Amino acid sequence: MKCRKCKRSAVIKMPRHNTAFCDVCFEDYLLKQVSIAISDDKMFSKDAPVLVAVSGGKDSLALWDVLIKLGYETVGLHLNLGIGAYSETSQQKVETFAASRNLSLITHAYQASYGLGIVEIAKASVRPACSACGTMKRHHFNRIALEKGFPVVATGHNLDDEAARLLGNLLKWQVPYLEKQSPVLSDDGGLWAKKVKPLYRLPEREIAAYCILNRIDYIVEECPMSNGAKMFTYKETLNRLEEASPGAKHQFYFGFLKQKEVLFPSPPPVEDADLCRTCGQPGQSTQCGYCRLIERSTAVTS
Ligand code: SF4
Repeated sequence: MKCRKCKRSAVIKMPRHNTAFCDVCFEDYLLKQVSIAISDDKMFSKDAPVLVAVSGGKDSLALWDVLIKLGYETVGLHLNLGIGAYSETSQQKVETFAASRNLSLITHAYQASYGLGIVEIAKASVRPACSACGTMKRHHFNRIALEKGFPVVATGHNLDDEAARLLGNLLKWQVPYLEKQSPVLSDDGGLWAKKVKPLYRLPEREIAAYCILNRIDYIVEECPMSNGAKMFTYKETLNRLEEASPGAKHQFYFGFLKQKEVLFPSPPPVEDADLCRTCGQPGQSTQCGYCRLIERSTAVTS
């Protein structure tokens, strides 16, 4: 198998593009996809530092690596969720990556802050672990970004994540979620840090190949709480479609982004936000979801 561009030996076959690339041309292609996402969607520029949320998995570490190669100023942010050995290994992968490249890293550990990990916090507040985890992550990404002066938080969500989310939203006809689903989530006039997903043009398989070719050591195990999560069922379904019809994920998600301009011609309205009386962050009431979660979990365990 030869590289379609330079005719050297190919290292990756890409059925969705009906092509194959050598290591050098593959890296050119992947960096270009991220550059296009950043510039076409006006995610950020080189004038301000970007806070990169890094879990220790392949997507977020690949994203950090690519942003450095593209010349962006970055700082990593790792949340240690307090899920036993899984969280310890995840943090160690992030720290090793940052140290090997001399990058700045902010870490925040739930056990150190609350004396509880995400599983205990979720249990005490009678919430599914992933739902509580989402609330906690949103709060800390936003709080740390605003406190430390980062206008933008970049996450490692890829094409598979976005297509699976879209499938889930469509199956339940979650119209408000469909309206908001986007590679860029606005800062709503400075209430939030802007959230961006520079890997949304790339499927998981290509990101995994990038990590292997660049010897990026990431945590391979999935989070233990992801067992039975619907997202994985959606991803498996989309993988089967992709196998039968290469490019299906791309067509599905990018078709949606195009249709969105017709279905929702104006940006979603900025919701009236109350500022939380405890933490000061915006929310739907005077006590935000994060503070309700923490109040309930500490009340149960104290
Ligand atoms: Fe959090 Fe659930 Fe993801 Fe684990 S699987 S990191 S608990 S959202």
